[in-house]
Amino acid sequence: MSDAESLSGSETTDADGAAEESTSTAPLRVENLRKRFGGIVAVDGASFAVDAGSITGLIGPNGAGKSTTFNLITGVERPDEGRVLLNGEEITGMSPERVVDRGLVRTFQIARELPEMTVIENMMLAPKAQLGESLWRSVLPGTRGRVVEQEEELRERAWETLEFFDLDHLGEEYAGGLSGGQRKLLELARALLTDPDVLLLDEPMAGVNPSLERRLLEHVHTLEEEGYTFLLVEHDMDVIMNHCEHVIVMHQGRVLAEGQAAEIRENEEVIEAYLGGTV
Ligand code: ADP
Ligand code: MG
Repeated sequence: MSDAESLSGSETTDADGAAEESTSTAPLRVENLRKRFGGIVAVDGASFAVDAGSITGLIGPNGAGKSTTFNLITGVERPDEGRVLLNGEEITGMSPERVVDRGLVRTFQIARELPEMTVIENMMLAPKAQLGESLWRSVLPGTRGRVVEQEEELRERAWETLEFFDLDHLGEEYAGGLSGGQRKLLELARALLTDPDVLLLDEPMAGVNPSLERRLLEHVHTLEEEGYTFLLVEHDMDVIMNHCEHVIVMHQGRVLAEGQAAEIRENEEVIEAYLGGTV
């Protein structure tokens, strides 16, 4: 309970937020989400909020309901009950495309890269963001003043994004030739082209070698500092403990615990859930 209360935005120094709902500063919030598949309750009243400009980890033993929660947030599945709020507005039940338009993207939600096409061509296939003011624009130094064709501006932005990820030298290569780790970077690069506020990452480190993993995490931290918000499902506990400010633990479709990584590591119920569960 006290953990949930500490998340409720009470630490905001912004006085004008006080009149609004208590968690209005959280770009992503889910309330009492519930989803049943036949006799199985995959998500059973899950509520949590994800703070702006943070990396939050979502963990739990196999079958805890993490993937279903991601599906409910991204519009892949419709909840039986509960709400999903993005920047304070309800997006519950919206199609995945509309959810992306609203500013929330899950990396693998974007179609997989096409191996027969070049990296830059794959970038151009990402769902198109609205051009103009955007968080991404503010990350890249110096806006171009000239008026350009939209396609040209998108291409330019795609190249800048590749450059940010040190992938520009691979821009004209076939995507099929990329390593697993480079593919993960490309996935993140393509997700950024949709101009999101919130990114959901589903096991971004799976199959990534240690040096690329470090690079990927550095990029995530840079983006976090720029104001992007990340919710991360990751099985590698070292990644969770070392890179997430806040950790949410799901178990049997519910939020079992949440708090700082160090607290979570010591939490008896969490230890029990992992040891006693079907991990
Ligand atoms: P996690 O990602 O934490 O491992 P899931 O969300 O994948 O957990 O699954 C939660 C529970 O819901 C599991 O018991 C799983 O078998 C069940 N489940 C998930 N998706 C479906 C589905 N489409 N149909 C039936 N059962 C499902
Ligand atoms: Mg899963």
